[in-house]
Amino acid sequence: MKVTIIGCSGSFPGPDSPASCYLIEAEGFRLLLDLGTGALGALQRHIGLYDIDAICLSHLHADHCLDLCGYHVVRTYGPGAPHPRVPVHAPADAPRRLAAAYGMPDEPGLETAFDFTRLEPGTFGIGPFTVTAGLVNHPVEAYGFRVSHGGRSVAYSGDTGESAELVKLAEDADLFLCEASFVDQPDLPTGLHLTGRQAAEHAAKAAAGRLVLTHLVPWNDQSRVLDEACCGSYGGPIELARSGAVYDLG
Ligand SMILES: [Zn+2]
Ligand SMILES: [Zn+2]
Repeated sequence: MKVTIIGCSGSFPGPDSPASCYLIEAEGFRLLLDLGTGALGALQRHIGLYDIDAICLSHLHADHCLDLCGYHVVRTYGPGAPHPRVPVHAPADAPRRLAAAYGMPDEPGLETAFDFTRLEPGTFGIGPFTVTAGLVNHPVEAYGFRVSHGGRSVAYSGDTGESAELVKLAEDADLFLCEASFVDQPDLPTGLHLTGRQAAEHAAKAAAGRLVLTHLVPWNDQSRVLDEACCGSYGGPIELARSGAVYDLG
């Protein structure tokens, strides 16, 4: 299983990274976790436009889903179109919300390009992967994911505040992509995002093998985010996510 970070910028694209998007590959199958603002561009450095086999959307904030609108154009009007519909596992309101974002009526909306399945907490198969979706702690319906294949696992927080469910998803994961949107300061809002310190606490509780801090907000000093994560009890390797980074989990 190979994981490529396409986009790791928090809440909006930064100068060096699009917003959230992670490519997970095994047995020739290509699964995307999120397709946030700007991600469709950087994705083309790694795979062809028509090589996406399935997409999971953690939640419907723009920085996690909005490039589905551009990808609808690719599948519907690109050379050889129309192309087969891509399975999209997403919160219940995704078809209507994305149709509205595109400026389409609800029917057919984007369903000529995408076959939407409503996400619910639980474990299911996508291609060769076993995927577990769990509700995390964010102001809208939001999921974290665990994707497993061949005895290896990657966990992805999506956007979340502190969450026992996230610890479960990341338990013994080889790679934990955990958001660290905040730097520590008094009176941070709860139920929204994590600091680097909190991300590392989740990784420690889960005994995850490697922690990659992601959803990095461009206005933060990222060295501070990393320092805060490194000062806690988590003993595994910790690094900042970077667009283009590849993790071969074997
Ligand atoms: Zn976000
Ligand atoms: Zn969000």
